[in-house]
Amino acid sequence: MNSNSLYLLRYDEIGLKGGNRKFFENALVRHVRKVLDGCGQVQVNKIRGRILVEGELENFDKIEEQLQKVPGLSSFSRAERIDKNMDAWKDAVLALFRKLWDGKELVRFRITSKRSDKNYPLKSSDINAELGAHLVVNSPEGLLKVDLHQPEINIHLEVNQSGSMIFVSQKRGLGGLPVGTAGDVLCLLSGGIDSPVAAFQMMRRGCKVHYIFFENRVFLGRAAYDKVEKLAQKLSHYQFDVKLHIVPFSNIQVAIRDYCSERNRVVLYRRFMYRIAERIANKKRYLGLVNGESLGQVASQTLENIHAVNTVVNSCVYRPLICMDKIDITNIAKRIDTYETSIEDAPDCCSVFMPKRPATRAQIEKLEDDESKIDVEALENEAIDNMEVLIIE
Ligand code: ATP
Ligand code: MG
Repeated sequence: MNSNSLYLLRYDEIGLKGGNRKFFENALVRHVRKVLDGCGQVQVNKIRGRILVEGELENFDKIEEQLQKVPGLSSFSRAERIDKNMDAWKDAVLALFRKLWDGKELVRFRITSKRSDKNYPLKSSDINAELGAHLVVNSPEGLLKVDLHQPEINIHLEVNQSGSMIFVSQKRGLGGLPVGTAGDVLCLLSGGIDSPVAAFQMMRRGCKVHYIFFENRVFLGRAAYDKVEKLAQKLSHYQFDVKLHIVPFSNIQVAIRDYCSERNRVVLYRRFMYRIAERIANKKRYLGLVNGESLGQVASQTLENIHAVNTVVNSCVYRPLICMDKIDITNIAKRIDTYETSIEDAPDCCSVFMPKRPATRAQIEKLEDDESKIDVEALENEAIDNMEVLIIE
């Protein structure tokens, strides 16, 4: 524990301009507070263009792991707070350099200062020159060489309204935008690899992502239900306070099996999923649907089938993975820690009554003809009436 230590958090300026700026910053501060809950007595405060995390910082690894999960943070640095005057900076820069020097005979270095407190009389370039000269004069002759482009040691000094702080490295954050600032959407979440990644991509762009899962426990048991709940919990590292809607799907699947053409089954399942998801989204004023479709990945994801499904709704349907390869999707799933859960064995409802040769180019008239043989609205109403809603904190 070191009471002079703090974290300096940065966010990209995109989207943070003008009157909305406070709204974005407040959302970010709220999220940082939330993820650091349980990391000791920390205070999270906003200063101009930065967020500071200070207090009794006990577990740096844990804090950094948590900060890396906050959409909207572009990078952060662990820094030391020092007095706001040239003598203190000189001492701190020299002490830090000596700590970092690994005994090499020649070290290329630079000082990078940033002065957002314009009341301080010296300009950044003057501060850099004075601190650099101080380092050189107090080091063995010939050891140091200024290199602005590829320094081996780059000591940063920030002088802002809250004081001054020194650091050497920065870690990348998730980037993107603070969660919730774009609005709420509803993601069709299955237990597979793709849809959790699609949900995450939308969170990273500022959406609060609620979920809808269609389940068939009558034929498949509870394994998929538990898996989807676990995935939603895992994703709650990146957002908080969302809803998971669980819709019973077995009666719909049985009706499709009994009355509709076998080859169209999966596309018909999907049309039901979309229609029901849209009804829920409209009722709750969510601003669009999200799914994990990726072009050509499986038979239900040809251009023809995606179109045949999409035509049943008016909502915007966001497909963040549509042009991504499975390997890249899988890599993200591993990074966001959903992969291991996604590959657990628990069949999705779409596998129930799977036709031997599913249609890859379903025709809309034929699908409509199939649907005319069942009471679509009554089946949907029944499913919605029996929907369960879990809060994912
Ligand atoms: P995933 O890995 O996300 O399950 P997938 O490659 O298995 O995707 P499909 O089974 O064709 O692909 O599903 C395509 C998309 O349809 C999924 O990404 C998801 O958004 C949605 N979906 C499929 N099954 C369900 C379900 N049971 N509940 C909710 N959404 C579903
Ligand atoms: Mg699936």
